[in-house]
Amino acid sequence: MGGGASKAKKQATASEVVPEASAAAANAGTSSKIEELTAQAKVAAEANPDNLCAKTLLEAEVQTWMATLPAAKLDELALCAKSGLDNHDSGLGCYAVDPANYDELAPFFDRVCEGYHHGGGKVHTTNWSLDGVEGLPEDGQLDLQKLGLGKELSMRVRVGRNLTAFPLPGLMTKADRVNFEKTMLKAFDVLKANPDYGGNVFSMTPNDVWSEVTGEAENPNLISADKYQELVDAHVMFKDMAADPYLASAGIASDWPCGRGCYQSADGGFIIWFGEEDQLRIMCMAKGFVLNAVFDRLHTALQAVEAIDGIAFATSTKYGYVTSCPSNLGTGMRASVHVAVPNLTSDGTDAKAKAAAKPLGLSVRGMGGEHTPIGKDGTIDLSPSSRLFITEAEIVTKLYNGIKLLLEKEAEAQE
Ligand code: ADP
Ligand code: MG
Repeated sequence: MGGGASKAKKQATASEVVPEASAAAANAGTSSKIEELTAQAKVAAEANPDNLCAKTLLEAEVQTWMATLPAAKLDELALCAKSGLDNHDSGLGCYAVDPANYDELAPFFDRVCEGYHHGGGKVHTTNWSLDGVEGLPEDGQLDLQKLGLGKELSMRVRVGRNLTAFPLPGLMTKADRVNFEKTMLKAFDVLKANPDYGGNVFSMTPNDVWSEVTGEAENPNLISADKYQELVDAHVMFKDMAADPYLASAGIASDWPCGRGCYQSADGGFIIWFGEEDQLRIMCMAKGFVLNAVFDRLHTALQAVEAIDGIAFATSTKYGYVTSCPSNLGTGMRASVHVAVPNLTSDGTDAKAKAAAKPLGLSVRGMGGEHTPIGKDGTIDLSPSSRLFITEAEIVTKLYNGIKLLLEKEAEAQE
């Protein structure tokens, strides 16, 4: 598990409370930190030239800028970069630990975002309206039956969101995580009282930690290990984050399972994760044919959440909704279906499906999400890859047309 958050905080405090420390001593401290980061970045970039975090840290302009940073900011940058420097095989390799990082550490994050999203100076805009979206069927219905599908698919649309009131998960303390959960309980009470939602909260915060932080006798929503597994198997709860080396290095998985859990509506189809990679992952899921159903419901539900007292989502002028991972910036949206492509997976792997999906701007994941195996019957998780410099409405339309194009490749693979 990553203990980086508390370490970075302690160092920052130490450098602030010693006013007599000379500027020369401070400079010596930061230059040795820069040397350490640079050495780690060189090793990582050599092992994997596509490690965007390592590559970016080695750029001459970034090196010059790092030398101007006060010690506390340099420590924060080091924490943002830790995952990619620890895990050489990372593609992106960095996570923001505070919403302000996208502004305060812009010389680093702007380059990473350009390298990943290729925005070329674009500014992100939010738009859920399907009106006029290219590729939208004339009746506005993203109905998969029109593509010849005869069996209902599992459809899911999620967005990542973070509150302005807390650091991002990589820098949260254990108390922050539990206080964040407690803050969200007030919002969940509002949803539970609304007949459109109702539902329950499932929490993993152990009773002793709950008591320590809140002063209350016990966690009112605590679930058993069996219930947790049942929720994971049903795609309702997220997996054990501490087992993910990327999230562990980033400090995002620290204090697992404190402050982790979810809210689920009475009908099961509207879910809010708390304490995963982003403070909140808000999603709608349903079995069916019409993608508009989950998309429209999520839009309505999000507005209901945002209207609740105390809920203010962090945004950036350039990058829209702020997320821990720069890959999720903008919409924070991943729209997916579970779809069977037995021909493209006839070798038992997702390799051919991934190769077919990539040029279409689509990502392939396994049945349990990222880094999990595909289904035995050749079912994959298919979603548009873009989240930034694209609108919400364009993403869901792209999923519809993407399914169509991938099913054409699937038919070709039979011949
Ligand atoms: P994300 O990063 O978008 O939250 P993950 O890949 O981490 O997604 O997967 C999280 C969970 O969501 C997993 O249980 C995964 O199987 C589930 N999931 C994703 N898409 C769908 C879908 N269309 N239908 C059912 N479950 C889904
Ligand atoms: Mg995920």
